[in-house]
Amino acid sequence: MFKGQKITPEHNKVYRYETGERHKYLGHFYTLSVMQTTAEPSVRIQGENMIMEVNDPGNRKQKELALDMWYREQAREVFVPILAEAIVKAAKYCLQMPQLRIYRMLDRWGSCSPKSKILILNLELIKVPVPCIEYIALHEMIHFKYPSHDFGFNSALGNLMPDWKQREDFLNTYYPI
Ligand SMILES: [Zn+2]
Repeated sequence: MFKGQKITPEHNKVYRYETGERHKYLGHFYTLSVMQTTAEPSVRIQGENMIMEVNDPGNRKQKELALDMWYREQAREVFVPILAEAIVKAAKYCLQMPQLRIYRMLDRWGSCSPKSKILILNLELIKVPVPCIEYIALHEMIHFKYPSHDFGFNSALGNLMPDWKQREDFLNTYYPI
């Protein structure tokens, strides 16, 4: 990235879902390859490519939906083990697996409500590198113990993930929301 170059937030990007277009997954770009199928629409990663099979390759909405569904499935598969790891890391706080909800949010990466034991992660996190997802997951999990960003919260985060600031800076720089 050049100095002063602005990165467009994902939700401001307009995708055409055509072969050759680049889409992100876990911090890497993959080149979309759209194919026709009579079966259920699907998406898969193959090498550097993201293979999408849909019934009508000319239908933009159908392709958008296929990719959105795939991202949601991947998000659950990727986020749950990361949350489990955060719980192990923070074992001394005896945290429990919260109810995970995955939403597309425009202004935050995650949030949690300690009372209802619900943790919300932004669907867009499926596009960022794993270390950044780990940071957000741990940050939100610590909120179950320390609801605000007070001294207790900061010292817990600093102890459990000494490089959290680099992860946060990377996220803010390369994945603005
Ligand atoms: Zn927070």
